[in-house]
Amino acid sequence: KNSSLKIIVTGGAGFIGSAVIRELINNSNHHVVNVDKLTYAGNLESLSTIDQDSRYAFEQVDICDATEVKRVFEQHQPDIVMHLAAESHVDRSIDGPGEFIQTNIVGTYTLLDQARAYWNQLEGDKKANFRFHHISTDEVYGDLPHPDDFTSSHCEETKNSTPARVSREQSDAAISQSRATNDQALPLFTETTAYAPSSPYSASKAGSDHLVRAWNRTFGLPTLVTNCSNNYGPYHFPEKLIPLVILNALEGKPLPIYGKGNQIRDWLYVEDHARALIKVATEGKIGETYNIGGHNEKQNIEVVKTICNILDELMPPEKRGIKSQDGQLLTTHHSLLTYVSDRPGHDMRYAIDATKIQKELGWTPQETFESGIKKTVQWYLNNQAWCKHVQDGSYQRERLGFSK
Ligand code: NAD
Repeated sequence: KNSSLKIIVTGGAGFIGSAVIRELINNSNHHVVNVDKLTYAGNLESLSTIDQDSRYAFEQVDICDATEVKRVFEQHQPDIVMHLAAESHVDRSIDGPGEFIQTNIVGTYTLLDQARAYWNQLEGDKKANFRFHHISTDEVYGDLPHPDDFTSSHCEETKNSTPARVSREQSDAAISQSRATNDQALPLFTETTAYAPSSPYSASKAGSDHLVRAWNRTFGLPTLVTNCSNNYGPYHFPEKLIPLVILNALEGKPLPIYGKGNQIRDWLYVEDHARALIKVATEGKIGETYNIGGHNEKQNIEVVKTICNILDELMPPEKRGIKSQDGQLLTTHHSLLTYVSDRPGHDMRYAIDATKIQKELGWTPQETFESGIKKTVQWYLNNQAWCKHVQDGSYQRERLGFSK
């Protein structure tokens, strides 16, 4: 808290990058330079609570542009680079992989190369203390065995039932009970799990992770890598599952579930991730990799049902006059669940072993899934203006007014 470092955060207008910057400005003395191209996923409104702080600066720069990246290093003289800029949405990587190769691989290469040139000409403590932290995903590990034994039968049951036949409480209890008996033997991703990416997104992130490690091994650049599970929380772009479900539910729109909805993800509250990243960036051991996860394995269908439960409590649909497609007044958001065909190559299960970061750096998440998801739903209810600007595209149009 006492020392003041200059930290470049790439992708700082994105979901996780903005959480890192808010945490750095609110809870440390460090200076932050946000380097972001402002693609569709970059939203400066996510930084409106801190962007007037004198310790914050913004550079609208594409990380693939070597000249501009070089200028940023020379002008700002960073102590640490936290590299989060990426194309991050799996579905988009299936529709158009080119941008993913460009930003995630070529962009990371460009940043590494310029970081190396900058670091090479530093001297003394400034050189000894420089750190390049690359932020990556658990999706590079591919997927893990899935407890199909119970999920296939459970999901068939869920799919064919209406809320009248199987109550929410009954189905939630069935999941928890099956989980308790099935989970113990299931493997987790560790820092030494072999890479086996499935999608163009995860393959491009895997490529970037390898480049970062090569720049450490070959050139001695002081790097760190973290691989994290699925994040959720405030300021999440509504193409991702949790915000999509919350916002669709509030409008009475269908809640899409891929396949049977039994894919398992390990969910981490974004502010817990931000705190972990800052710990690794400032205290992690050079050359190391740290997995970050919340021990919150949930099937997608459970996540959606939990959101429906919270919304049923906070905003009963019949009180808001929400109608289903056939014109009937809805009594529960669960009626909006709609099964759609699965994504090609969809990974079935991700789960992180976060023992190393807990033991070596003393980081543990502060939120459980239950507490974090309630905060998240409440945040979306309280921040309708942010949501509206994303949904109507005005967050992009207004950039002209406040870029730089
Ligand atoms: P995001 O899509 O919300 O934000 C990405 C940001 O990067 C945006 O602000 C965008 O404008 C910027 N950007 C994209 N291309 C750029 C370029 N060429 N130059 C400069 N800026 C560019 O992503 P996120 O969810 O915040 O993820 C951040 C990082 O964390 C990514 O590297 C992602 O792979 C990783 N990650 C994400 C999750 C998750 O659950 N979201 C989990 C683990 C790891």
